[in-house]
Amino acid sequence: MLNIILFGAPGCGKGTQAARLAEHYDLYHISTGEVIRSEIARGTELGRSMEGYISRGELAPDSIVVEMVRDYMRTHADKGCIFDGFPRTTAQAEIFDKMLAEINSEVDAMIFMDVPEEELVKRILLRGKDSGRKDDASEDVIRNRIEVYRQQTAIVADHYTKQGKYSEINGLGTMDEVFERLCNVIDQKR
Ligand code: ADP
Repeated sequence: MLNIILFGAPGCGKGTQAARLAEHYDLYHISTGEVIRSEIARGTELGRSMEGYISRGELAPDSIVVEMVRDYMRTHADKGCIFDGFPRTTAQAEIFDKMLAEINSEVDAMIFMDVPEEELVKRILLRGKDSGRKDDASEDVIRNRIEVYRQQTAIVADHYTKQGKYSEINGLGTMDEVFERLCNVIDQKR
């Protein structure tokens, strides 16, 4: 059982690498952003309640996101998981640790993917051309997401540093190069 948090600013490549790592290590992959977008696409009440936050580039409320993950873990606790975009606040991390402890599990590693801001904006604008994600189309919304990351999310690194679970890799380079760096960290944890 291996629970890995992929961590970093919007556009750092978490989603792409998480999918690849999940396949390589036979783990589940949960992206809370994807779960929220699918709720919105299905027009559920939950989705409607989160639409405003996403379109402004703000975080959805901790209570809602945590319950989404709790729900997911009910059916996906038989093997480990790559967490992509979660936890994004210290409050989420604290509840998450308890949630895993209740099922005799824990976070094994948080890996930070380091990418400079200008590269992040460039990548997201490019992605927005194909993804159709509204929050990827406006430079103002993108910059706001990066600011929210700095103010509310970056600090979650301290939470896992204190537990001795934090590592960093360089997120620049080809997808294969970044994948290999991530695998090197994960292989040390197994
Ligand atoms: P990105 O990493 O490019 O911002 P995501 O798909 O991870 O893309 O997230 C998109 C949006 O979904 C975020 O801007 C935020 O509004 C919401 N979101 C995703 N995960 C969380 C979370 N753990 N807590 C709060 N909001 C979240």
